[in-house]
Amino acid sequence: MNPTEPQPSAVSHPVSRAAYLADHLEPTQSALAEAAQAVATTTAAGWHPLTGYPGRDEPWQMRCLLCGWEGPRTYSQVLCSLPNFRHPGCIPQSQWTDKLAQLVSAGCRCVIAHPTTPSEAADVVEGIRYARQVGDGTGLLLGLARLLGPCPASANRAHALAQSSR
Ligand SMILES: [Zn+2]
Ligand SMILES: [Zn+2]
Repeated sequence: MNPTEPQPSAVSHPVSRAAYLADHLEPTQSALAEAAQAVATTTAAGWHPLTGYPGRDEPWQMRCLLCGWEGPRTYSQVLCSLPNFRHPGCIPQSQWTDKLAQLVSAGCRCVIAHPTTPSEAADVVEGIRYARQVGDGTGLLLGLARLLGPCPASANRAHALAQSSR
């Protein structure tokens, strides 16, 4: 690209692959399944990932959906600290159950549709594989967004993805 050309103005919030999966992780089927499960588990626990899944023990930037706190947690910490601890300064533990219940939603109603059945998940994984093969960066990004983007139905999605890889 000619460096003097203006960037497309529509892309005011450029999104990179790292928004869904950390750059050091290859989007293999097993890495995608682990990341989808991690997004599902953290979402169900009232966390909203702000960056791509970095692996189990790497700092992961997140927002607490119960109080709005933002900061780094590791996936291991989220798994191990439940159900007794979230982060310093969160709302009282007695209010967590009610707050979490309000966050639960039945299905995907997102603008970018997320797969919630094994065959849909398999299609997206195949799309990611193909996009990598032909060097289609936009296609790869869209595939990662469908598989790993925040979604109220992320638990269904992780389950569907696990089923599709059997
Ligand atoms: Zn909190
Ligand atoms: Zn969704």
